[in-house]
Amino acid sequence: MNGTAHAAIGAAAGYVVANTVNASTSETLLLVGLGVISGLIPDLDIDGKLRDRITLSHEVVRTVSQLIGILMVIYSFCEGSSIEKWMGIAIGIGMISIASRIKQKHMLTLTGIGVLAGGASLQELWMILFGVYMFIASFIAHRSYTHSIIGVIFFGYIAFRFEMSLGIHGVYYTCLAGYIFHLAADLKLLPFNKRGIKLFLPISSKEI
Ligand SMILES: [Zn+2]
Repeated sequence: MNGTAHAAIGAAAGYVVANTVNASTSETLLLVGLGVISGLIPDLDIDGKLRDRITLSHEVVRTVSQLIGILMVIYSFCEGSSIEKWMGIAIGIGMISIASRIKQKHMLTLTGIGVLAGGASLQELWMILFGVYMFIASFIAHRSYTHSIIGVIFFGYIAFRFEMSLGIHGVYYTCLAGYIFHLAADLKLLPFNKRGIKLFLPISSKEI
């Protein structure tokens, strides 16, 4: 099923949850938005629409990494003792040269690392775990672990912690429903799906 359909189903899930928990108008908008995002998240394992949108632009990541590299060289040159100085300069130059070779397909990996680091500095467990989720999703095959029961449990826990952080009812159910409906809409049972999902990975890799 395509991204637009997944997004629409997620939006509907958010709307139903909002009505069930008697959410205010602004909370309803938030839940519908979270439903859309959650309905697209399992497909972070492909080069889809969402990946382009949540992934930092190639140029921005490159510029920021190069700036950090340059600052590191300057700082090491001014502050470090002899060994630290040359280590810092070497790492800085390494970062500058790696940054200039970054390809688009590494963007999700880098964004995942960035989200993880952001979560660590904000001390938000959901953000740390979401960074880990993106990092893993950037390496695995399409319709594999993100489309499995393990993926549901992992994402469900992120959503649970996210609701605890926000303190808004319905966030957990919306995110979980958006995600689960995505998997349901990708099942091979449905006539318009040529491929199914490997729901029981790693126990069974049979497509259903
Ligand atoms: Zn999918």
